[in-house]
Amino acid sequence: MIHHWVDGKPYAGTGTRNAPVTNPATGVTTDDVALASAEDVDAAVASARAAYPAWRDTSLSKRVQILFRFRELLNERKDELARIITAEHGKVVSDAAGEVARGLEVVEFACGIPQLLKGGFSENVSTSVDAYSILQPLGVVAGITPFNFPVMVPMWMFPIAIACGNSFVLKPSEKDPSAALFLAELWAQAGLPEGVFNVVQGDKTAVDALLEHKDVKAVSFVGSTPIARYIYETSARNGKRVQALGGAKNHMVVLPDADLDLAADAAVNAGFGSAGERCMAISVLVAVEPVADELIAKITERMAKLVTGPGDDPASEMGPLVTRAHRDTVAAYLSSSAEQGATLVVDGREGLPEGEGFWLRPTLIDNVTSGMDCYKDEIFGPVLSVVRVSSYEDAMELLHNNPYGNGTAIFTNDGGAARRFQNEVEVGMVGINVPIPVPMAYYSFGGWKNSLFGDSHAHGIEGVHFYTRTKAVTARWLDPSHGGINLGFPENA
Ligand code: NAD
Repeated sequence: MIHHWVDGKPYAGTGTRNAPVTNPATGVTTDDVALASAEDVDAAVASARAAYPAWRDTSLSKRVQILFRFRELLNERKDELARIITAEHGKVVSDAAGEVARGLEVVEFACGIPQLLKGGFSENVSTSVDAYSILQPLGVVAGITPFNFPVMVPMWMFPIAIACGNSFVLKPSEKDPSAALFLAELWAQAGLPEGVFNVVQGDKTAVDALLEHKDVKAVSFVGSTPIARYIYETSARNGKRVQALGGAKNHMVVLPDADLDLAADAAVNAGFGSAGERCMAISVLVAVEPVADELIAKITERMAKLVTGPGDDPASEMGPLVTRAHRDTVAAYLSSSAEQGATLVVDGREGLPEGEGFWLRPTLIDNVTSGMDCYKDEIFGPVLSVVRVSSYEDAMELLHNNPYGNGTAIFTNDGGAARRFQNEVEVGMVGINVPIPVPMAYYSFGGWKNSLFGDSHAHGIEGVHFYTRTKAVTARWLDPSHGGINLGFPENA
């Protein structure tokens, strides 16, 4: 049984419900995960609350030493962690290693927290009066995370939250719960005091208990748009600070002057990497004519060489989908798109690997229009839809009318067109000849429109702002040589 982590050690909890955890490459259930009851959430929050005052008062130097030790341990054990991800998520090990590396970058960013927590100081704003601001932690903060990045997404949150002096309760996805416990053990080995980092496994019951809990001061969420909206509304109603990152439908625009080999490589990597189960995956290729036929030919040629297979086989380039139910949902879009008039250029239901894994191979659909289900919905699988348009303006109109605004990319050799695109597009993360423009740890990650509810993006300086609140102080200290109390502030300033 996969348990929770409270008070610096494994915690069995009181919940009586559990859920199966499955290896997506074999279809075999490998373990069960405990689903927390509201009392289990209470226990984790109580532990975090008890740990908070001492952690908040721990000096910055000491906090940073622990962060550096955590960074070193994570780096030493990153291959083990990547294999844990692959066993429960299904993605290929090299991809899982990449996710750990991106998480590590946020820890490295958080190691610079003394620099980031500096407030402002204005000397002598009035006679003998100074004004300054300080950044303080919030208290107990919670993170609720999706299945698709069981290491990277939680690490967008907790390294910075903890570095700022908060204590943290993580509720990972119940589909791949083990990585969170591995991270908890590394924190303990790094010397993080008990209770500063806790994990509650679970589903809606655990989430609702966190959203309702009076001692949880802020909630960071990453997941699908309907749940993000729910988290945002419920947390706000309960008076909590909240950032809720939602789903995506990312478009890649290819202009007629683009390098089509570069664009085809990018479309294949960004469309089918991690079986398309990435919030920054490209799912719509907007081909500005006359490039569509040539681009599709180049993409099809590359797709034929892509090896789908178990994530722990070094020969595999794409693994299975996360669950059987999700695979079936994704496959249903292949049927509906054909029924609705699109052309299935490559059908991912053909030539599947053997066995009971949740397989679907890369799929390419041409002649997709904005009214079709495969265009309207976030499919979250290895399915690339091609929409043919006749001009840059038509491409922009398509993007403008799409309710999501997470990531996008433009492929062109025209700097002016790229500059216009970056300025006009209503999307939070933009790539120019880069298909997956994931910001570095020192920038912030977040979309616009239905891809983010709240006003803070994740990590970078916005992450530091989210996990701190500012206090502005005005102080008067008289110079002893002054010879008396200056009662005249501000009139005699
Ligand atoms: P999900 O919304 O189903 O689940 C996310 C989290 O919410 C999980 O911890 C889950 O246990 C919990 N949850 C699920 N249903 C709930 C409910 N009814 N009430 C309360 N909590 C609930 O998402 P997922 O399937 O795990 O992940 C895939 C989704 O996440 C995709 O939509 C993807 O685009 C999105 N995502 C977005 C980003 C981003 O940065 N914007 C990053 C990664 C993933």
